[in-house]
Amino acid sequence: MSRKILIVEDEPQLAELLADYLRAAGFEPSVIQDGREVVPWVRDHAPELILLDLMLPGEDGMSVCRELRRFSDVPIVMVTARVEEIDRLLGLELGADDYICKPFSPREVVARVKAILRRAAPAARQTTGLEIEPQAYRASLDGQVLDLTPVEFRLLATLAEHPGRVFSRDQLMDRLYEDHRVVTDRTVDTHVKNLRRKMAAVRADEEIIRSVYGVGYRLEAL
Ligand code: CA
Repeated sequence: MSRKILIVEDEPQLAELLADYLRAAGFEPSVIQDGREVVPWVRDHAPELILLDLMLPGEDGMSVCRELRRFSDVPIVMVTARVEEIDRLLGLELGADDYICKPFSPREVVARVKAILRRAAPAARQTTGLEIEPQAYRASLDGQVLDLTPVEFRLLATLAEHPGRVFSRDQLMDRLYEDHRVVTDRTVDTHVKNLRRKMAAVRADEEIIRSVYGVGYRLEAL
C-alpha cells in the first residue's frame, strides 16, 4: 500500500519538520511549495493523504482543494494560520476532510493523519451499523430503531452524509431550523448530547459523534 503523504507548504522549515515526523512514523512524505504544482503531482503519484496549506504562492489552498475534488477523493487536511478561518472554510464546503490550525505540534499532525487514514480505510466503512431512512424519518443503529425527535434525526442525517467530515455549529443550525436566528450554538450542543445518549444506549463503548474543539462536530466513520 502507498504510504505517500503530500505536504503542500511554502515555509521550508515547517515542511521539513513535518516531513521528518511523518517519515519517523513510517510514511513517505513529499513536499511541494507552489499551489500550481499540486494537481499534476497528485495525478501522477496518487498519495494517501494531502496536508494542504491555505496561503500558498501560485494558487491558494482553497482553489487547489476544489480542483482536487473534481477527480480524487484522497483525504485532504487543510492547514491554516487562523482558527477563525476554519469556520469560513467550512462554509465554503470545499470537501476537505479535516482542518489543522497553525501553530501545531508535528506530533499532533501525525496522530491526526493516522486517525484520518484509519477511518478512510474501506474496511472501516463497510462495518457501519447506522441506517438512515430519510422518507420515514427513521434511523437505526445495529438494527435497533433510535427514538429520535425530528431535530435529532435531521442532525444525525446531516452528519451521516459525510462521515468523518467536520460540520460547524452554524452549518448544522442551517440544516436543523428554517430560521436559525432564534436558536443559539448551545441548542446544537444540547441536541448532540441527547442524540449521543440515545446512540450510547445501543452502542455504549463508542463515541460516534465526536466534538472537534472550537469548530463543531463530526460523525466517526463506524
Ligand atoms: Ca503558507
